[in-house]
Amino acid sequence: MIEEKLEEITGGTNRMLKDKIAVVTGASRGIGRECALTLAGYGATVIVNYNGSKEKADAVAAEIAAAGGTAKVYQANVADSDAVKQMMTDVKKEFGRIDILVNNAGITKDNLLMAMKEEDFDAVIETNLKGAFLCMKHVIRIMMKQRAGRIINMSSVSGVMGNAGQINYCGSKAGLIGMTKSLAREVGSRGITVNAVAPGYIDTEMTQGLSDEIKESFIESIPLKRMGQPKDIAETVAFLASDRASYITGQTISVDGGMNM
Ligand code: NAP
Repeated sequence: MIEEKLEEITGGTNRMLKDKIAVVTGASRGIGRECALTLAGYGATVIVNYNGSKEKADAVAAEIAAAGGTAKVYQANVADSDAVKQMMTDVKKEFGRIDILVNNAGITKDNLLMAMKEEDFDAVIETNLKGAFLCMKHVIRIMMKQRAGRIINMSSVSGVMGNAGQINYCGSKAGLIGMTKSLAREVGSRGITVNAVAPGYIDTEMTQGLSDEIKESFIESIPLKRMGQPKDIAETVAFLASDRASYITGQTISVDGGMNM
């Protein structure tokens, strides 16, 4: 019964993340939600982090629990150092270890440079870039003591290619790629891998607000001629989190239908 329900989430019986403890930031909606469900489906215990969307985060955890998996909801603003430190401390205390960190939480505040407010630049950098820094900072000792760990940073095709109207967002996402490579070099000898995923144009609330004109121009630029689904990203994250990816570190994996090549 439990196995059957887990199969509904993963589409298979693979339990490659059994006994792993995973923290997924921004897991209440969109890509983070799908990462939480998918990692749980592969057998991981998942900490469903959120900032404001409590009901949605509770629903993700309930879905995992109903399928026979294990999840815990945890509110923490990733840009708040004390809150992140407390989250990592509490998770370690309750579950004994942290094997996987998915730095997924992210926001956009788009505008052309000339019109971009300084506070909108700061807000995006604080959440997307500093948030990932803080999560890595407060988890890394735990992983180093374990001599094992997997960190996956959610970058973006925009961070690789640039995008007009998004210098704050692209700066944060390109910065994540630099941090990924740097930390990969720092902790590789401790058995910890650090990689980034660069999603293309994915169907979530973040992209649902775009005009039809922009959506059409995006799809035109994608060789596969369609937008991606959160599941496309979550499966890549699960792979990078698994033992199957143990010789991959410092990389940025594009999952974008061929937008960047
Ligand atoms: P989304 O639907 O807008 O969801 C964003 C998630 O981040 C929510 O769960 C939100 O939680 C959380 N979050 C935001 N600020 C936070 C904070 N300060 N602390 C903790 N959690 C916070 O976005 P998405 O499309 O799924 O995007 C997820 C990630 O993928 C982002 O990093 C985004 O930049 C990246 N990405 C997305 C696309 C795309 O096309 N959708 C493409 C490339 C990269 P609350 O609701 O609880 O605040």
